[in-house]
Amino acid sequence: MRYFPVFADLDGADVLVAGGGEQAAQKVRLLARTGARIAVVAEALCDELAAQGERGAIDLLRRAFRANDVRGRRLVYVATGDRALDAAVSRAAQARGVPVNVVDAPELSTFITPAIVDRSPLTVAIGTEGAAPVLAREIRARIEALLPANLGALAARAQALRERVAAAVTDPRARRRLWERLLQAPFRGAVLAGTQDEVDRILADELGGGQRQHAGRVALIGCGPGDPDLLTLKALQRMQEADVLVIDRLVDPRILEYARRDAERIFVGKNPHGASTPQAEINRTLVREAKAGKVVARLKGGDPLIFGRAAEEMAALQQAGIPVEVVPGVTAAHACAARIGLPVTLRERVRQFSVATGATSDGLPDLAWEALAAPGAACAIYMGVGNAPVIRRHLLAAGADPGTPVVLVENGTRADERAAATTLGDLADCVTHLGFVGPAVIFVGLDWSDACLERPQSVAVYRRTAAPERRMGTPPSLELETLQ
Ligand code: SAH
Repeated sequence: MRYFPVFADLDGADVLVAGGGEQAAQKVRLLARTGARIAVVAEALCDELAAQGERGAIDLLRRAFRANDVRGRRLVYVATGDRALDAAVSRAAQARGVPVNVVDAPELSTFITPAIVDRSPLTVAIGTEGAAPVLAREIRARIEALLPANLGALAARAQALRERVAAAVTDPRARRRLWERLLQAPFRGAVLAGTQDEVDRILADELGGGQRQHAGRVALIGCGPGDPDLLTLKALQRMQEADVLVIDRLVDPRILEYARRDAERIFVGKNPHGASTPQAEINRTLVREAKAGKVVARLKGGDPLIFGRAAEEMAALQQAGIPVEVVPGVTAAHACAARIGLPVTLRERVRQFSVATGATSDGLPDLAWEALAAPGAACAIYMGVGNAPVIRRHLLAAGADPGTPVVLVENGTRADERAAATTLGDLADCVTHLGFVGPAVIFVGLDWSDACLERPQSVAVYRRTAAPERRMGTPPSLELETLQ
């Protein structure tokens, strides 16, 4: 981040606009929404600015710019239409330490103006550091659509209530909880609808009970495989409400950008190659934090209910009488399959799709191998790359064809995502040769050609043996075909 967003208080502040054309008029229009005292310096003025000057809405300095014009200004905007003059104004402002913005010239500016969504006092500022103003405008349009036009009324109401609420509820956490409730339905609905009786009634209720200690609670939140765009809206809301985040190892750091900045962060998790937090300790942490009255967001990779040890955490919380909610997430198998366009069920061909774990506490997978190897069955094996040779051996012993298609996806939806297609016979060699270490999902019994689809270019093909191909649909070869 090169440009740091701040909101400048322009109430009663002196602001100078250098230039008298349409671009200068645009800035004056924007600044007129604030309480700034606006002065315009220009030799020639467009009609709009001249009219505003006559009305007394702005001060007009109808003459050439002088370096001293910038003195005492909170901000200076420059749009003279003359690059040399723009640069001179910028130099004069910078020499006096006055923040300056030259329209369309970031190199002459010490600040830039964001795209603004104005629901004053609620304001959203969007910037791209000048990289893609069109993108900023597009995002502004989306946010404009998202926020009711009279949302400002709600923010203004909140402002008017601040002191009363602060006096009624002294504990900061309880106060934030109260605000969270107030700013959601039904109070929000009543304010936006302008039904004053309802507003007063809800306020009296809330402020009356505001002092009581609100109990803690826990949300087990599925954060998906990595890409934050796969978070659900509910996951986002729960993360925003949390006082404390208890974070799994598999949760992508990008996800944490969506949590409240001042929420406390506790990192836990089981790293197969390093330090890990015992499950009992994670359970104790959740109970302890919730008992302290905090709202806890337990962030888990993928979906919390799939190989996520959610049961143990839920049981510990239930025993302690703490309310717990589960927010589903996109599980690794679904996200990985989507990335490579691989259907996990197929009409007439694949009628059973199971998820299985390739690792257990004693290290060895213990699965219903015959069922997984049965024709018409497919599966996604989690935590399986370390045990690929054992998985291969068990499936072959249970009668699976060595030509059964296998697809691996590692780090699905992350920057270092990669995928390979191979056969069951070659699974272990594929893992070794391509150096898969996980996190990865191994799909068994699924292939694009069965579905009359093309394998995406991004998926490498690994073949070592010349075993007859039954299901891959491509001719066998003796060597590694592609390595992308
Ligand atoms: N609850 C999670 C699974 C946790 S178990 C879920 O629903 O996805 C951890 C295993 O999930 C990993 O060993 C790997 O098999 C799989 N996994 C998690 N994130 C993954 C990713 N980004 N790409 C591929 N596999 C992933």
